[in-house]
Amino acid sequence: MGVVARPAHEEGSTKSVSESGFRVKFWGTRGSLPVSGADYARFGGNTIAVEISCDDETLLFDAGSGLPLAGRALAADRTKTTHLFMSHFHYDHIIGLPFFCPLFNPRATVSLWSGNLHGQQTTQQTLKEIMRPPFFPVSPDICAARVRCMDFRATDVLEPIAGARLTTGMLNHPGGSIGYRVEWNGRVVALITDTEHEPGKLDDTVLSLIRGADLFIYDGAFEDHEMEKFKGFGHSTWQQAVRLAREAGVKQTAIFHHSPTRIDSELEAMEARAQKELSSLFFARDLQAVTL
Ligand SMILES: [Zn+2]
Ligand SMILES: [Zn+2]
Repeated sequence: MGVVARPAHEEGSTKSVSESGFRVKFWGTRGSLPVSGADYARFGGNTIAVEISCDDETLLFDAGSGLPLAGRALAADRTKTTHLFMSHFHYDHIIGLPFFCPLFNPRATVSLWSGNLHGQQTTQQTLKEIMRPPFFPVSPDICAARVRCMDFRATDVLEPIAGARLTTGMLNHPGGSIGYRVEWNGRVVALITDTEHEPGKLDDTVLSLIRGADLFIYDGAFEDHEMEKFKGFGHSTWQQAVRLAREAGVKQTAIFHHSPTRIDSELEAMEARAQKELSSLFFARDLQAVTL
């Protein structure tokens, strides 16, 4: 832990000081809608996709427009299963799924996990809904990979690979969203996206998922003064992240699900204000990597 986060493209010049094989890569950090152009060049504009590596095992979280980049970075001859965990199925978290190239690789195995719709529809049924006309030209039958659809319910503990333990919890979001606490080799990353807090309160589910985390990744789509205006939209603020981080004793906090309406200079100004409150907090950028 404690390695200062920096954009991945800077890694070549500064060797990682950690030998740990536990690593987080942000492939997409934008919420709601992908954006592009000069005003978004520093933070990037791809929607949510995060990779957590445990040595040579790969756990991916959400299938936003950043996911195809993660797919292209995986070796084409990879034989290990690639696990993809969904928080929920809103467009900004699924738009990259039909363009995730391991799905079309006959040598690949992909496990797709979801739990937010437990009891309503299965992961397999949801996949068929995403890949069907008139929204998409072909059905999941086109996938040459071995695709395993996995269902769980919030609060289940998942052990997709040896040595990793994923605790799950239901977040406060329209239709539900799953938060994940990923433990590996004594280190913890908590991934909490698409959740709305009640002003003045700390969510017990979130606190239990993030307790003592080495890295706490949180939905900071709004600011506190905007919460009244966007009540019911299902998102939170960097100020709430600060309050949660302090209460739960987390070591490092990353804000993501950035609003598509905010350009780089606005996000940098917000980040500077947030860091005055909590110096171990940063606003995540697309392609940024953190070693724990
Ligand atoms: Zn979202
Ligand atoms: Zn959502």
